[in-house]
Amino acid sequence: MAQAQKITPRAKDYSEWYNDVIMQAELADYSPVRGCMVIRPHGYRIWELMQRALDDMFRATGHQNAYFPLFIPMSFLAKEAEHVEGFAKEVALVTHTRLKATGKEGAQAVAPDPESALEEPLVIRPTSETIIYAMFAKWIQSYRDLPLLMNQWCNIVRWELRTRLFLRTTEFLWQEGHTAHATEAEAEAEARQMLGVYRQFQEDWMAMPVITGRKTDSEKFAGALRTYSLEALMQDNKALQAGTSHNLGQNFARAFNVQYQTASGGLDYVWNTSWGVTTRMIGALVMTHSDDNGLVAPPKLAPVQVVIVPIWKTDEERSRVSGVGGQVKADLVNAGLRVELDLRENLKPGAKYFEWEAKGVPLRLEIGPRDVAAGQVIAARRGGGKTPATLDGIARTVTAALEEIQTALFDAAKQRREAHSIRGPTKAQFIEFMKAGGGFAYGGFCGSAACEAEIKRETAATVRVLPDPEFRSPDPARTCLWCGKPSIAEAVWAQAY
Ligand SMILES: [Zn+2]
Repeated sequence: MAQAQKITPRAKDYSEWYNDVIMQAELADYSPVRGCMVIRPHGYRIWELMQRALDDMFRATGHQNAYFPLFIPMSFLAKEAEHVEGFAKEVALVTHTRLKATGKEGAQAVAPDPESALEEPLVIRPTSETIIYAMFAKWIQSYRDLPLLMNQWCNIVRWELRTRLFLRTTEFLWQEGHTAHATEAEAEAEARQMLGVYRQFQEDWMAMPVITGRKTDSEKFAGALRTYSLEALMQDNKALQAGTSHNLGQNFARAFNVQYQTASGGLDYVWNTSWGVTTRMIGALVMTHSDDNGLVAPPKLAPVQVVIVPIWKTDEERSRVSGVGGQVKADLVNAGLRVELDLRENLKPGAKYFEWEAKGVPLRLEIGPRDVAAGQVIAARRGGGKTPATLDGIARTVTAALEEIQTALFDAAKQRREAHSIRGPTKAQFIEFMKAGGGFAYGGFCGSAACEAEIKRETAATVRVLPDPEFRSPDPARTCLWCGKPSIAEAVWAQAY
């Protein structure tokens, strides 16, 4: 019981609950460096599983991994005007390359050696468009070199003042895809394709429903022609941007002189795209599914999918139940599942249950002496429900149960999202909705940045996306929900992380 009580209930304090879930599940911890986090093994395993699934999808769509430097010459950032403006306020700089003893005590015993000052400071990458396109300029000569389809897995630094584990940290992990194409249409198709890859991953693996669509100009990536994003609704009815894909147009190609010889012998700039998802997705996963008992992980990304907890009183019972537990584990591992057999002596079964629940294990198999005699185990689902399962064919039963749990999590999250969405509200209804806790509000939008800014000021809601056709209302509003002028597109508003 003690374990479970350490988690603040969602209803009491959502933000505390989120931190408690992460700490109890041992996903991450605060680091001695302010704004940075340590990703602990249980959390890093989720990231590895995410990486593996996504990397296969990137490869299947023709992309190759590469690695570019962590440092970017400061002048590179200045080459694309919007880009530098977007990132100037959050870059970390390297200005010196050596320390020097000062003869003072303690923290002041060393200081940067003035003689080692760099002529041109280096920026620690906040994103890698500039350094990657500087290399593309070297590698791309003719239309035969196109398309160039690359991805890198790396870390990023964006100096943040207000940080939250996984959601907003100064350093985070991500992947950034970067491509070059001969035509605008190809770049557009690529940006859309990768948005689709992200959507498939987030729905099928994370069991997290998303709305896809285009960002307005005020929300788009610094330097992009068009930004597309995926938006998910968390349990506190705030939206979380779960990934972005940009058609960069020829902006960076012009800034870095990435030109190619066309088939007809002319010279033209390439069209670029970039797209990324980050460790923020772990925060999204936590907030989409977890409950007051701790982490709820979708089976496909759960570090441990099944935990086997044998129950015994005597030594003789212990040997019987753990023997059967070992067999069950072997069967499940053979079926490709991630399994733990909990034989710890110093912990009662109840305490083990709480611990594995907090860690988000989707399925627990309890094996007592009577179960062994009956040739069965008791299967307990993380979300509730206990049923006996015969040892015969246990791998099949467990695999089917995990698939059911995966589907049920997606369905529940989608139902929750729809229950907290409104379509076509009046201005008054919209204000009331945002005041009462919010969610996704679909409404007409005049397209004016002034309207957008005013809505943000008064309701804290922003346009998350101009949704793709399948998410649009059957009969979208014809006028802007705020100013009443003709609507240019339906928009989805929400308060967001
Ligand atoms: Zn308006």
